[in-house]
Amino acid sequence: MKIWGLNKPGLDMALLLTNVRYGDNVKFAREPQYKRTHWIISLKTEDAMKVGSRRSKKKISNSACWHVHRDFYENIFKINPLARVSTFTADYKGEGAFRHKFTATGEKDLGNGLLMKDACNCVDF
Ligand SMILES: [Zn+2]
Repeated sequence: MKIWGLNKPGLDMALLLTNVRYGDNVKFAREPQYKRTHWIISLKTEDAMKVGSRRSKKKISNSACWHVHRDFYENIFKINPLARVSTFTADYKGEGAFRHKFTATGEKDLGNGLLMKDACNCVDF
């Protein structure tokens, strides 16, 4: 994802706040890179068996799940409501756009009726 409107301490804070719910299992996949105007970031989990990890019927992975991304974006907009987050599926220019558009991304069918929001081991998030 790409993020505008936060500095590095802000990103670290967003991750820290996100990890309250995921037992410190969420990490930056690599050190965030700053490119002129924005950050390039991806999230992963340290332990694929623990909460926040993406999974399908056949595969468990270290990719961060939909809920992790939701909470991370939530925390970004908590720090700066005017921040911008751009992903493969959506471009959230500010908190209002995020609130308006994000829920629908969870309904994406990943195949065999498995929805994005269900492709993990989170319970009742
Ligand atoms: Zn999840």
